[in-house]
Parts: sequence; structure tokens; C-alpha cells
Amino acid sequence: MVMCSFFTAHDTFTIMWQIMQSNVHGWLVVFFAVLASGLNNNFADVQVGVVDCPDLTQEPFGFPVKGLCGNPRITDVGGVPNLIPLVQKHKEYDMNVVSKEVELPGAFMLGAAAAPSRVIGMNAEFMPLVHTETEGRPAVNGSYFSSVNPADGQCLQQKYSDTFPDCPFGLMGNLYACEGKPGKVIEVRVKRRTGEDSLVSAMRKTLEVHYPDKSLALGGTFVIQKGKAKIHVMPREFSVCPLNTDDDVNHWLKHYEIKAPIICLSVLVSRDPGLDLRMEHTHCFSDHGEGGHYYIDTTPDTVEYLGYFLPAEYVYRIDRPQESHAIGR
Ligand SMILES: [Zn+2]
Repeated sequence: MVMCSFFTAHDTFTIMWQIMQSNVHGWLVVFFAVLASGLNNNFADVQVGVVDCPDLTQEPFGFPVKGLCGNPRITDVGGVPNLIPLVQKHKEYDMNVVSKEVELPGAFMLGAAAAPSRVIGMNAEFMPLVHTETEGRPAVNGSYFSSVNPADGQCLQQKYSDTFPDCPFGLMGNLYACEGKPGKVIEVRVKRRTGEDSLVSAMRKTLEVHYPDKSLALGGTFVIQKGKAKIHVMPREFSVCPLNTDDDVNHWLKHYEIKAPIICLSVLVSRDPGLDLRMEHTHCFSDHGEGGHYYIDTTPDTVEYLGYFLPAEYVYRIDRPQESHAIGR
């Protein structure tokens, strides 16, 4: 049984929602100035604005829906404590069920999760891209998973629905859900990284600093158009020894440097209102067989990012682990 609790952060979202929905020009100017000024501390070239969401069914995205709009919300399902110190293999979830738990049956969902190990027979990174089922329409699963190739130790990305049915995932998931409609979104274009933060961390920290009493959540997608990025992929075998420290986890993970173009699926929260949320989680895939858990670009002098995001109206916490810790986040 999946437990669902949620909060409505009305004052928070009022700010961002006015930006998106109305002609309150003052809010718009303030918010984009805030985001741009924060990103300017980390990137040499920054452009932030509101645009019509590009058709995400087209390249390089290839999503099962056109846009990121329509009742946007995020959810944090399960969590890292289901993986470490020792795996809880029975923790498995279903995108179709989660879409109902977040009160948006038939939602499109993207983000970062663990693969359903029971189904695919191994541990792997999961890149969810699911248009969940609704009456009269079956689910469309555009998800990818990425594992460590036993043949050469490199990362091996596969499309989930090429081999497996249904829409399960395992252990944990940080998901952005919406109706998948076209509409207005926040566009972020940055080039040349001058600071230490990833694009996601830079955006999250900017919101945290400028709105210290609010919990703002964003979800969306961005493309690393030029450069390379550092990622990890979990080994196919779960650790039989308890992973008790961040060092233990880092030694267990396989690390790679992958090349652009890379499509990232991202969820971030500026402040945890006491729900044991993961503050940011981004997974990525590509058309050249590389994908996994994104950390940061490794080519600051040449990197270029283009992203589309929306603020979530609600955050849902599903199956929160009873015992938690901060290791491996
Ligand atoms: Zn991850």
C-alpha cells in the first residue's frame, strides 16, 4: 500500500503562478531578474524568459507528449534509504498508480528513478518518460534505463519498452507530473560555466537564497548542447556489504564522462518543508547510448545548456521511508 501525503504551498506557488498565468509584469521582471542574477554568478552567458514550450515529441527530446504544461506537480517516491545501507528489493512502484496518487490520472511523468530490478533482472539507472494510462488509452512508456555493460564496463543505455511491458520502477523516484500539454514555460539558456555549481544546483540555490521562507519546486528538461558531463551508473548487482558512508557509495558507483548532446530530466526543490525530500535529482539519456545520473558538466569553458522548466503547484510525498539518513544524496 502506497501512502500519500501532500502539502499545498499556496503563497509559494502564487508567486510563480502569477508569473506564468497572468500579465503581472512586475512579478515577471522580479522573478527573472532573480533567476538570471543567480545564474550569472555561475555562468558567463545567461538568458531567462518565458516561451511557448517546444514540441517535445520532436528531436532531440522524443518524449511521448508535446509539452510540460497542465496541472504541474512533483512527487518524491520512496527514497535513497530503500537502496542504502542495504537494498529493500520489495520496494517497487508503478507509474500508473503514482499518477493517481498525485491526483492526475493519465499524467505525463518525467524525472529520475531506479530501474525495476525484479523486472529487468538487474540494478540500473532509470530515466522515466511515461504518458500514464487513462480510460480508453494505454500507457506510452518512453523511458530509458542505463546499466554497466558486463562486456566492457561502459554504460549501456536501452529503451525500456523495447524489451519490457508496463510502467514499474524501483526503490525511489523524483518525478514531475503534468498533463503533457503545450503552453508557456520558463526557458533557460546558459553558456560557459564560471562557478562550481551544476545548472540544477545553481537554479536551486538561487531560489533558496532569494525566497528563504518558501519551498519552490521546479521540474522540466534541459539539453547539454555542447561539452561533456560527469554521470554515474549503479552496478548491476546491489551491494551485499552495507554502504554506510558517502565514500562507500561513491566507490560502489561507476562513474563516466559522456558527451553532448545529452537530454536531462530534472526535479528540484528549493527548501524541504520537513517531508524528507531529495532536493534535486537529474537523470539523462542520449541518442548515442550514454545515460545515467547527472552531476555536472566537465567542460566549463565550452558548455552550453538549453532548458525548459515549470514551477510545480503541489508536492506529494509517497511511501516516505520510516528511517532516513543523508548518505548518498
Ligand atoms: Zn539518480
